[in-house]
Amino acid sequence: MIIKPKGTVDITGKEAKVWKYVEEVIDSVMEKYNYNYIRTPIFESSELFHRGIGDSTDIVTKETYDFKDRGDRNLTLRPEGTAGVVRSFVENKMYGNANLPIKVYYNGTMYRYERPQKGRLRELSQYGVECLGSSDPMMDAEVISLSFNINKMLGLDDVVVHINSLGDSDSRNSYREALKTYFKPYLDDLCDDCKERFNKNPLRIIDCKIDSNKSYFKDAPKILDFLNVESKEHFDKVCEYLDLLEVKYVVDPYIVRGLDYYNHTVFELKTESTNLALGGGGRYDKLVGNLDGPETPCVGYAGGIDRLVELLMNEKKFSNVRDDIDAFLMYVNEDEKKYAIYLANLLRMSGFVVETEYNNKSLKSQFKRADYFNSKYLIILNSNDLNDGLVTVKNNKTKEEEKIMIEYLIYYFDEHISDDNQDVDLESYCHSHDKRGDCNE
Ligand code: AMP
Repeated sequence: MIIKPKGTVDITGKEAKVWKYVEEVIDSVMEKYNYNYIRTPIFESSELFHRGIGDSTDIVTKETYDFKDRGDRNLTLRPEGTAGVVRSFVENKMYGNANLPIKVYYNGTMYRYERPQKGRLRELSQYGVECLGSSDPMMDAEVISLSFNINKMLGLDDVVVHINSLGDSDSRNSYREALKTYFKPYLDDLCDDCKERFNKNPLRIIDCKIDSNKSYFKDAPKILDFLNVESKEHFDKVCEYLDLLEVKYVVDPYIVRGLDYYNHTVFELKTESTNLALGGGGRYDKLVGNLDGPETPCVGYAGGIDRLVELLMNEKKFSNVRDDIDAFLMYVNEDEKKYAIYLANLLRMSGFVVETEYNNKSLKSQFKRADYFNSKYLIILNSNDLNDGLVTVKNNKTKEEEKIMIEYLIYYFDEHISDDNQDVDLESYCHSHDKRGDCNE
């Protein structure tokens, strides 16, 4: 038996339904905020991530899936979504669009060679937004509130935004020096990664999982004390707008994010009770320039779909996920089966969720199969009734049943099943099917 690679998952059954539901909510919220869907390649040239994400990050130094293709090109499976979107923005000269900012969202698989554990996969799925072409703090606030609202729409009311500012490069330079001065006496005590970070990127010491519990950490300098006037103004405005938008947030000086490209606002979404990281993002005003485009201020967010789905499953927050069908068509002989095939098609095309029998099993097992799918109604086909143009419709809950003329079947279901999701125009569809019931001809 061939088994799936380490750190990957199969999403099936109920979980797959919850997954689709999560994606629907994401799509629908993105539509309301007027973010356009974007698809970029799953593999890109390796250079993009080295230059884009940064050579001092864990993602690039330890976690990328790098390979050479048969043409000897150096390629990398994308570990995150932002670099690809920015590459596309530059390559397609979207910066020339007079209607900046460009607001896009994506949803797809990312690849990181991490140590697999609960909630940490090697093939993970993320959705994310990128806004390219606005430095206004209102943009930061929109991205933060949008990500907060997606979780809210999914019924997760335990989510809080942890927000911090890394300021502009001047603010960060003074902070870096202060961190080095502070941590120098403790250098021997820091973990091996932090010893390296001390020289390459001291900010990253702040969110080290290993060192951050050490007693001398709590007195380490905080970036907010090093923000210059412009950076402080930007941060204060973001917070003011978040208050206006009623986003639940805390200012958290320990959020620095793992990637090199952030400046000003950085944030993470976490569950309040379990501190589970659901996503993060921030402003990255230098990335477009680093990737050979004109300097363009940007802000974005990426959220993990695997964790969202796991959380909804654990908390049983999937009451909005449909777990039943509208009707199950039952038959015994070949003539009845033809009606089953025909009527299943007709009802499905009219917007109803319909199932039938595919293995010519007995009526008894068909009843069981209908229950397995939680069918609201049973449509029992019987040759004698069919000759009179009738079918039996049974409410599977109340067990009441009645005979209905075939041509009224759709109207019957339309009346009895309140299905807000019907997207087929019933009336025009019925007019074009005036001869339904004639499938024997
Ligand atoms: P990051 O940009 O690395 O903070 O990732 C954003 C979100 O993606 C995280 O908050 C997680 O929800 C999710 N995520 C990141 N890495 C993984 C992983 N290895 N497995 C599953 N989800 C992940």
